[in-house]
Amino acid sequence: MMNFSKFGAKLTAKTGILELMEDLGRAMNQQGTVYMLGGGNPSHIPVVEKILRGQMEELMKEQGKFEHIIGDYDIPQGKPSFLRALAEFLHKKYGWRITAENIAVTVGSQNGFFYLFNMLGGEFADGTRKKILLPLCPEYIGYADQGLTSDFFVSFRPTVEYLGAHTFKYHVDFDSLEVSKDVAAICVSRPTNPTGNVVTDEEIRKLSSFAKERGIPFIIDNAYGEPFPNILFTPVKLIWDEHIILAMSLSKFGMPSLRTGIVIARKEIIAAISGINAIVALANTSLAQELVTPLLQSGEITRISNEIIKPFYKEKSQIAQELVAHYFDDSLPYFVHKSEGALFLWFWFKDFPITTKELYERLKKRKVIVVPGSYFFPGLEHDDWEHKGQCIRVNFARPREEFEAGIKIIAEEVKRGYKSAPH
Ligand code: PLP
Repeated sequence: MMNFSKFGAKLTAKTGILELMEDLGRAMNQQGTVYMLGGGNPSHIPVVEKILRGQMEELMKEQGKFEHIIGDYDIPQGKPSFLRALAEFLHKKYGWRITAENIAVTVGSQNGFFYLFNMLGGEFADGTRKKILLPLCPEYIGYADQGLTSDFFVSFRPTVEYLGAHTFKYHVDFDSLEVSKDVAAICVSRPTNPTGNVVTDEEIRKLSSFAKERGIPFIIDNAYGEPFPNILFTPVKLIWDEHIILAMSLSKFGMPSLRTGIVIARKEIIAAISGINAIVALANTSLAQELVTPLLQSGEITRISNEIIKPFYKEKSQIAQELVAHYFDDSLPYFVHKSEGALFLWFWFKDFPITTKELYERLKKRKVIVVPGSYFFPGLEHDDWEHKGQCIRVNFARPREEFEAGIKIIAEEVKRGYKSAPH
């Protein structure tokens, strides 16, 4: 057995999420049709793909451009022309006083979070330890194992607002939220993966002022937010300030495999990210930056996001909710989180006699893949809240026929689940 360092041991541990991902992969390779409502892949949107293909063709026409893209390392901060175009775009759109020095690119925003979390939180030179506060849980599964020290995240149960017979929304519970001295930064995903929640402007304002008062950064994970890809079904005010770190991504705009994450922050943080980038990755992938720069310069990126991507997912979300209402037994106490953005429906089966891990296994036997909700509570690992075992995440970005067939089976298994003996 290899004896790995603490770093190696931490990142190679058989985490729940790794096992789940392997399980999802195996399930995908089963014989016959599989209803893959489990992963986080965005849809292939033909109109967007056509535009990006067109951008690629333009690049290919330009003498020496292709050779430059594949043949030259970029500077670790990101492609200067992209950084400039994005800074100008954001300044024009929001009036923020930012320049290229406020922006860094990483190999996907997942990678950016690893850098941010571990440079802000963890163990300090004087032996003290600091944590990342996730003010509202459920929160993005991808944060869960990123901290290099133990008990890296701290979180609080949300409050639940009932919005109808089968709809609810989580809110930050400001009565119990505590920003203790060992908190290094506050972080929220908005829209939230897995719930489709959009933390309200008022909540954001309060969290932002907590962070500012304490002199710590407030990280807003805007992977689905505006101005791009704008998978947001509720109007929001996007804010940025010297203490805010806004994380963005080109994945949900349609290029997840080109691994392009964006960090917008004060210059000192950007310089730190560039430094880590140089050590860990040397440089970034530049193709997506090249493809998007003309769309930023012309402002076309806003039109694509507002007129193509947003309506595409909004319709998918609406159809998904209609199908749920159609197939689910109305007499059951099932709840769906209000779908305000992102690609997921988040179900809560109140008073469910079995856990949703058991439901996951039963669904897998019927070739429907979902994600059990218990993985989405980073920072609440030590809390035995029964709610953690009563939720599932379902991706609605899949083609309609596949989604409908999957939801029908989920509805049947949930009904059967409610009839099961508790254990
Ligand atoms: N943040 C959230 C909320 C996400 O859902 C994802 C991916 O699903 C990411 C960050 C990471 O995305 P990427 O590394 O593709 O930019």
